[in-house]
Amino acid sequence: MLDPFGGWIYHGPREKRSIALTFDDGPSGSTSRLLEVLAHHDAHATFFQCGMHTRRHKDIARATAEAGHEIGNHTDSHRLLALRPRRFLRDELRRAQESIAEATGQTPVLFRPPYGVRWFGLRGVLRELGLLGVMWTKIGRDWKYPADQVIRCLRRGVANGAILCLHDGRDVEAEPDIENTIEAVRRLLPELKDQGFRFETVSRLIAS
Ligand SMILES: [Zn+2]
Repeated sequence: MLDPFGGWIYHGPREKRSIALTFDDGPSGSTSRLLEVLAHHDAHATFFQCGMHTRRHKDIARATAEAGHEIGNHTDSHRLLALRPRRFLRDELRRAQESIAEATGQTPVLFRPPYGVRWFGLRGVLRELGLLGVMWTKIGRDWKYPADQVIRCLRRGVANGAILCLHDGRDVEAEPDIENTIEAVRRLLPELKDQGFRFETVSRLIAS
């Protein structure tokens, strides 16, 4: 039987000593501080932004793209995609494509669904919009855990080609506190660099 949710990416090549850090739910008023930490470690990441947040924080959305990070689509309004007709899915994704492109100058080629929840019809919409679905190898659960626990969680997923999922926003909040996420990244990056890992965008990770 054909898997309706098939064709999604969960990790990159196992032979590549690289990791793709990904951040969902932004941009938020707290994203800039995260960008500083990434720049300090010369790390490039992928930000799955919501259209509504890019309209609210246009300058931060643009600064993220201009810093060399990849921008992905995380829907327009971060609503659950389950039990929705195909037209709803298409509108959510297309509106986000337009707002993200306008704010950042990048038209996303990657998509991640809110809460990781997929639904029938999504695959067709992704194809229409030229988007590749990206899940994760390990999620940090940073919306509820302190930095120590986020780090422990992510360490279990560290491997060649891993895609790690964190958040630079908290759902639809405009000015969320993401201090635990920033702290986890600040501590984890040097540790992983010492282990020989490079930090690449998802598109670069899977390019080879
Ligand atoms: Zn999300």
